[in-house]
Amino acid sequence: MRPYPINSVSIVIPVYNEEHSLPELLRRTEAACANLRQDYEIVLVDDGSRDESAEILQSAAEREGSHVAAVILNRNYGQHAAIMAGFEQSVGDLVITLDADLQNPPEEIPRLVEQASLGFDVVGTVRSDRQDSAWRRWPSKLINLAVQRSTGVVMSDYGCMLRAYRRSVVDAMLACRERSTFIPILANSFARHTTEVLVAHAEREHGDSKYSPMRLLNLMFDLVTCMTTTPLRLLSIVGLGMALLGMLFALILIVLRVIFGAAWAGHGNFVLFAVLFVFTGSQFIGMGLLGEYLGRMYSDVRARPRFFIEKVLRNPASRISDRTENTPKTSTAKANP
Ligand code: UDP
Ligand code: MG
Repeated sequence: MRPYPINSVSIVIPVYNEEHSLPELLRRTEAACANLRQDYEIVLVDDGSRDESAEILQSAAEREGSHVAAVILNRNYGQHAAIMAGFEQSVGDLVITLDADLQNPPEEIPRLVEQASLGFDVVGTVRSDRQDSAWRRWPSKLINLAVQRSTGVVMSDYGCMLRAYRRSVVDAMLACRERSTFIPILANSFARHTTEVLVAHAEREHGDSKYSPMRLLNLMFDLVTCMTTTPLRLLSIVGLGMALLGMLFALILIVLRVIFGAAWAGHGNFVLFAVLFVFTGSQFIGMGLLGEYLGRMYSDVRARPRFFIEKVLRNPASRISDRTENTPKTSTAKANP
């Protein structure tokens, strides 16, 4: 891993109805950034707030010598879409995201910058002492477990949005045209070296979480579909299991019928069960097959970059064009007559 030179840092913050947190957020973020050795910008994205947030952001951007850029969306698109909008406007070598509700202390920014400059593509954070209600904490635990199982990327806390991404990773994420995304996981799919730092986590001081149980469920589906189409494949596997069980059941029935005679088999009622199992199983297999096509179509429609080249190292001497220019041509190929 090589050190990554960082000349500028962009802070991207999504804002949705956070008028009470904003003054303190701006003050603390600016104070934390002023300690940085690098040049910085603070990109605040108003995600269609219905309170005074947009106005506060605009006046912060208009202040003399302000490092704030206000990005105003016309309506509410959701936290991750808002962050994407901020990414698009950011220019820094390193992009750091954080929440506007001050649950992620902006004072941690310099530590993230320091880690990223060591050469990590993505720097995540782990909340040392999470200050959320239990119903908000348990779904997160489930999510983390599912992500670890299916992506193999070991990060322990995906819910914490205080994270740093290298420019190349941000550009790769912007190249993904899909609408439903879960940024920390998308970023990890383009990262090579990742690390996590332990950060403090505060309680929400103003207002409530913007995630109702329904939105949380939606986020969970975004997260699952963002990383895998395995649930579709599960249909086939369940179907196959069912059909095999049905066949086994039928076999046992036949054997027992032969051993114990016609009276035992309950006049064929059980046979119906066995047949039903086999047919339901085959239906599931069929649905699973449809799912396989659907999954492939989904990944094509998303049109994610097929691969992500981090860098290409080429010695000028290796360029074919340079070499051929210097060698005299011996014969001229004739084009089609
Ligand atoms: N947010 C947003 N759009 C939304 C919902 C939330 O921009 O539709 C922002 C919100 O202003 C905050 C961050 O996303 O800065 C995280 O939201 P919240 O604190 O409600 O989520 P939680 O901490 O409960 O996960
Ligand atoms: Mg919050």
